[in-house]
Amino acid sequence: MISFIGAGPGDPELLTIKGKKLIDAADVIIYAGSLVNPEVLSGRKKDAEVFNSAYMDLDEVIAVMEKAEKEGKKCVRVHTGDPAIYGAHREQMDRLDKLGITYEVIPGVSSFLATAAVLNKEYTLPGKSQTVILTRMEGRTPMPPKEKLVDLARHHSTMIIFLSIGFLDEMTKTLIEGGYEPETPVAVVYKATWPDQKIVTGTLKDIEKKVKDAGITKTALTVVGDFLGDEYELSKLYDSHFSTEFRKAKD
Ligand code: SAH
Repeated sequence: MISFIGAGPGDPELLTIKGKKLIDAADVIIYAGSLVNPEVLSGRKKDAEVFNSAYMDLDEVIAVMEKAEKEGKKCVRVHTGDPAIYGAHREQMDRLDKLGITYEVIPGVSSFLATAAVLNKEYTLPGKSQTVILTRMEGRTPMPPKEKLVDLARHHSTMIIFLSIGFLDEMTKTLIEGGYEPETPVAVVYKATWPDQKIVTGTLKDIEKKVKDAGITKTALTVVGDFLGDEYELSKLYDSHFSTEFRKAKD
């Protein structure tokens, strides 16, 4: 059984207990070295074999898994954040299916959730936005035709943009073209929860210059929307005049 593990955003203490137990007991570890904090592997067995998938293609990753299985060794595949978000683990699972190798997925704290945490913000502010769009810009890999940023922007929802910090100029222009006001608040978080984390805040109009001045060129999320502002409605959930399953309204 191969275990796909979400390593969390960076801080090694944001790894699940289940994920840590599996990593610490593994004989073979394949990890996404470009983003996974090596500290996440610090409790590994002394003789564990460690492979950095940044230098491997899909065939090579699968070959390591297959060999480990044949030799009766426990293999874990460690992805950054949660594997379900731009983790490319589906193609690995499908190959394992073909080989008759079983697997499980242990979720992790995605960087978009760590970003909300370090900003002390809630993405779903009542009266502002109740929808969160996770997306990326079209870069070297294309986007499906119905998911162009300009079209997604029309919803005016909370928007979280992965893998795109290098295109910030085009991104902000496209978001304004799609309907966000130029004054819409934006935050760029570099390496959320790592010791060298940086937070830059601004508006669609001025964020690009601020991010350039901060020297941020990779490993950052851009979050956009009025949830970053201070105007919103209080929730009904904790409203004293609103009954819930657990609590009667006070008159
Ligand atoms: N599966 C990961 C995302 C992988 S795609 C997750 O759930 O977080 C890689 C992109 O994620 C990076 O380009 C960056 O946009 C974002 N990212 C990953 N870790 C990050 C972190 N600690 N802080 C900010 N952005 C991060």
